[in-house]
Amino acid sequence: MRSQDRYAVFGDPIGHSKSPKIHQLFAEQTGQSLQYTAERVPAEQFTTAADTFFTQGGKGLNCTIPLKELAWGYAHHKTQRAQLSGAVNTLAVQDDGSILGDNTDGIGLITDLMVNHGITLKDRSILILGAGGASRGIIGPILEQSPQRLVIANRTVEKAVELSQLFSQLGEISGCGFDDLANRQFELIINATSTSLTGELPPLPENLLARDGCCYDLAYSNQPTAFVHWGLANNASKSLDGLGMLVEQAAEAFYIWRKVRPRTETVIALLNSQRGL
Ligand code: NDP
Repeated sequence: MRSQDRYAVFGDPIGHSKSPKIHQLFAEQTGQSLQYTAERVPAEQFTTAADTFFTQGGKGLNCTIPLKELAWGYAHHKTQRAQLSGAVNTLAVQDDGSILGDNTDGIGLITDLMVNHGITLKDRSILILGAGGASRGIIGPILEQSPQRLVIANRTVEKAVELSQLFSQLGEISGCGFDDLANRQFELIINATSTSLTGELPPLPENLLARDGCCYDLAYSNQPTAFVHWGLANNASKSLDGLGMLVEQAAEAFYIWRKVRPRTETVIALLNSQRGL
């Protein structure tokens, strides 16, 4: 009997990863036979673990916190979007045995915002909170949608300024600290800090969200996150978390590996029903 193609997500922590469930649902839906597991891999063990996985015939990996920059360095070659972002969340073995690195976080977010939730980015004023690995992955795809302006605000101000300079050739972008947000307004605010993971919020001034504006937290949880609550308290017309992005970035990885595009709406609906939303 032909053995199943093997895929995995590496990260640390990884215990509550929904990726195995998502890829299992994609495989069932598209009639693909594959195995997808979640493995706890600390940063210092990444290269050895990835080498072992691929040497033993593994076909593709997803990489999550804290491995995306290491995965970028590990890939033999990278897509343009991964090259620019400096972070890789998907590794795929190519026909010649080389490893391709891609970053599907940005397209995952854009698809969830625009297709699943009907949120327009063109000509909008957009604020991203945070300048870590997730921000790096989403800035390029957001600028491709021609927003009026994109501001990156971060606790460590230099990182926000550095990131804005890195992407400045793609559109109107600037970086600042949270203190610089006073008396400014945005139509879409995206939380790409890791604060929701500990139930905290970045320090945000009043009236930051424009009338009818939307909020999106990259983090997700079985309960509304602190930032989703903040959006609701600030009269957001939509205040969403990142579960849809998670499923959409997984669908893009699945497509890279299997050349088959799964439908995402039923998977998102199932995961939402399992968390009571
Ligand atoms: P990183 O560790 O790379 O970056 C963390 C960011 O959060 C930095 O900008 C950091 O600021 C900021 N931060 C951390 N603590 C605080 C605090 N107390 N106050 C203010 N800012 C703070 O993480 P990632 O970028 O990889 O991930 C960010 C979030 O995005 C996580 O919640 C992750 O789960 C989520 N995510 C969701 C995805 C999805 O598919 N839905 C995909 C990818 C990420 P500083 O630079 O000053 O340290």
